[in-house]
Amino acid sequence: MNVIELQLQNFRNYAGLSLQFDPGVNLIAGENAQGKTNLLEAISYLSCGRSFRAQRSSELLRFGAEAAELHARVYSQEREQTLRMVLTQGRRLLYRNGAKKRSFGELAGVLSTVLFCPEDLLILKAGAAGRRRMADMAICQLRPNYDAALAEYNRILEQKSRILKDKEENPALLEVLPEFNERLVTVGATIIAYRARFFAGLGELAQGYHCQFSGGKEEFRLQYRTVSTVPNPFAPIGTLREQLREHLESHARAELESMQCLTGPHKDDFSVFLSDLDLKTYGSQGQIRTAAISLKLAQRDLQQRELGEMPVLLLDDVLSELDAGRQDFVLNQITAGQVFITCCKTDKITKSGRKFEISAGNVLLEQE
Ligand code: ATP
Ligand code: MG
Repeated sequence: MNVIELQLQNFRNYAGLSLQFDPGVNLIAGENAQGKTNLLEAISYLSCGRSFRAQRSSELLRFGAEAAELHARVYSQEREQTLRMVLTQGRRLLYRNGAKKRSFGELAGVLSTVLFCPEDLLILKAGAAGRRRMADMAICQLRPNYDAALAEYNRILEQKSRILKDKEENPALLEVLPEFNERLVTVGATIIAYRARFFAGLGELAQGYHCQFSGGKEEFRLQYRTVSTVPNPFAPIGTLREQLREHLESHARAELESMQCLTGPHKDDFSVFLSDLDLKTYGSQGQIRTAAISLKLAQRDLQQRELGEMPVLLLDDVLSELDAGRQDFVLNQITAGQVFITCCKTDKITKSGRKFEISAGNVLLEQE
């Protein structure tokens, strides 16, 4: 799968742009604030129908413009296809292969992307919630049934939270608590089973990438952590349920006292270890970046296994903080599928592919 051509009109700082891309590596170079991230944002927006950084889609319209238009020619599903989106204040028109579509769902699958942006580094360092969200989004892309299970789990969890909060005013609510716990245990076990498989696959692939990336200097290990009574998240679903139930029961009193849902996979997390040191605590800037990019490369491979096509990789501002060897890995050794790499240094080159130099929303230079 690859983007053959992209045309933008009045999107962010692009008044009008038309670029033809290499099916392999595309290096987007330019000084700060010239439109490099905006370009990746446009490609990502075409693939998933939302921006990874805009709060409102009106931010995407070029200042003073009434409408923005994004148009891409894409090779996917063994043929050439087109995607077109017209954005106006409060409205969005969508077209696939020239035909108007009502919802983004009807465009899904034409273009898939995996994005690395500098904010992903914070996710590896900060609290568990961000990491869970990142993993959940990746699993949802791979397994539509997971999406439904997660939504159900969150619904039950919210209802249980309300019971715990309102129980003093309405003690009768406590009678239904066991029923909610049982439903949480059932759906929770399913969620743990999905996550265990996802993290095992992701960890194995990321380990290989991280090893190449660091020139064999660091050994990457990913560990999925769920409730303490589950020693083996690959156990049969019945065992997982029993172990979850056990954890819930041992925390029943604490939950009533704190009026919070304290146990279950909504507290899950994962850790990355490099040569047995926890990345969160001991990782250097370059190590965190290397691990984050390795995880994205692994996620892209998992998607390829599942969908049969290699998603387009969007790497925003990846090179900073990386030493020469690691920069070479990004620029020259990601050989599968199409890759977009933005960087501030205009002297960077890749051994193959195409290079674009961008200045104030215009392409200054294009090199094969
Ligand atoms: P950096 O190297 O600092 O990350 P960049 O090349 O990635 O820079 P972008 O984030 O793509 O820069 O943004 C470039 C410019 O786009 C910003 O200076 C911003 O003011 C401008 N911009 C953002 N939104 C709009 C908009 N809706 N209309 C016009 N210009 C915009
Ligand atoms: Mg940028």
